[in-house]
Amino acid sequence: MKHALTTVAGNRFEAVEKKDEIAVPTLLQEVLAMGKSERKTFWQDHFKKCIKCYGCVDICPVQLPGTHGTLEMEKWVPRGELPPVYPLFHLIRAYQIWDTCVLCGDCEQTCPAGIPLKTLQDLVRYFSPEEVFDLVPGLPENAQNAIIDFVKSTQHIRENENRPLKEQELMKGA
Ligand code: SF4
Ligand code: SF4
Repeated sequence: MKHALTTVAGNRFEAVEKKDEIAVPTLLQEVLAMGKSERKTFWQDHFKKCIKCYGCVDICPVQLPGTHGTLEMEKWVPRGELPPVYPLFHLIRAYQIWDTCVLCGDCEQTCPAGIPLKTLQDLVRYFSPEEVFDLVPGLPENAQNAIIDFVKSTQHIRENENRPLKEQELMKGA
């Protein structure tokens, strides 16, 4: 997996280097180029500023009520605890809309703590959950597995929702 990440980061830097007009790498590129402990410090330093105002949830155009599935935030993120348990609150929020996120950046814009939430969305959007956990280190294995299961089950539901009605009916009858 490390090799895959190094290749992705390398390709993106190469693409940027070819464009003379782009002198500074994006934050996503910087995160991809970090070592594991540097990345952990990076995300910890950002996530610990969170005041759990839920502004990022409320502003999001695709964050619909009732889409939490089996992974309710309250199960993993105790009420009244500040900052929220690293890095669960942020990962769960990001994963809830990983495939419908339109990358508008409103979550990041509205965050009073200045947390780079758009970069987090880029990660969950473009990398597999296994890769994202390597990019956001520090999550207990049981929580990792729960989120991976959640992502897979959500994907299955959404893929099914996009099938033509007739095909869905045939599948129900199978
Ligand atoms: S908007 Fe920022 S401070 Fe508020 S809950 Fe979201 S990440 Fe935390
Ligand atoms: S970038 Fe994605 S997660 Fe953030 S507000 Fe826009 S749609 Fe929602």
